[in-house]
Amino acid sequence: MKEFELIERYFQQEKLSWCNEHVALGIGDDCAVLNVPSHQQVCISMDTLIEDVHFPKHANPFDIATRALCVTLSDLAAMGAAPLGFTLAITLPKAESNWLKDFSQGLITIAQQYQCPLVGGDTTRGPVLVISIQVHGLVAKNSALTRSGACVGDKVYVSGNLGDGAGALPIVLQDPRLKHRDSNSEMSQHFYRPLPQIKYGQSLMGVASSCLDVSDGLVQDLNHICKKSAVGIELNADSIPLSNALLQRYGQTQALQYALTGGDDYQLAYTAKHCEQGIYIGDVVAGREVSVTGCEMSGAGFQHF
Ligand code: ADP
Ligand code: MG
Repeated sequence: MKEFELIERYFQQEKLSWCNEHVALGIGDDCAVLNVPSHQQVCISMDTLIEDVHFPKHANPFDIATRALCVTLSDLAAMGAAPLGFTLAITLPKAESNWLKDFSQGLITIAQQYQCPLVGGDTTRGPVLVISIQVHGLVAKNSALTRSGACVGDKVYVSGNLGDGAGALPIVLQDPRLKHRDSNSEMSQHFYRPLPQIKYGQSLMGVASSCLDVSDGLVQDLNHICKKSAVGIELNADSIPLSNALLQRYGQTQALQYALTGGDDYQLAYTAKHCEQGIYIGDVVAGREVSVTGCEMSGAGFQHF
């Protein structure tokens, strides 16, 4: 299969790379051309996933694709942005049509669900599978949710259960049937399809004083808010929301440890004076870092280096 044939067959499909009011020109030219309404701004974020670093090499290509696009879209959710389109740089050791078909099906599923078309990319051959996705989103001018607005006296909230992403990892890595799609395993879906909280993020506009998505572990990520906002955060371990599935599988102590320091949750953590819909887990206080009352912690969170 030639490079252009591959692009046309698997990436330039109407269901994946449609044009709309915002996409004036998509795949097939030297650049994509996007329309940005004058009252809005573009948010841009990029994530790279490398085989056997971010997903098992033999994982199902459908699952690899859903994970890659979900985790990238999650950054748009954290800013309160609406998806506009994404680009995909993919490095493949070889071009296998079955693999590519399933991979593009995974992309289609998430692209449709979040109305975020593929607008361009780059396709290369290389020694290992590497996927880089860049997402573009729209946000009303000067109203993106950032990490820098938290104030002493605000409350700290999360959008949903924590720890499931980290709890899913041992399951994903041990699965002896990795080549087959393990769609029955609810836990592994937390890893392969961590649905980005796009609507939730948009609903926090004008409500949250700061916001981020929990990708590297709650404590480590909230420390970013502390730094950027020049505040401290006091978390109450008893209020951290844990799923029954996680508690049953790992018990209270390990589940809490995963929730505080594991990664891959892709829930939103944010601060606000008050927020009806969030799960209240702590307070913004004077200080410079995160502290947790009600438990002992080991390790802070995930870092590559
Ligand atoms: P150029 O040589 O001008 O950089 P390419 O040959 O790399 O263009 O790509 C041709 C067209 O196909 C471009 O519009 C590019 O955005 C698109 N494209 C290439 N690879 C991908 C991909 N993996 N996903 C989506 N679009 C792609
Ligand atoms: Mg080019």
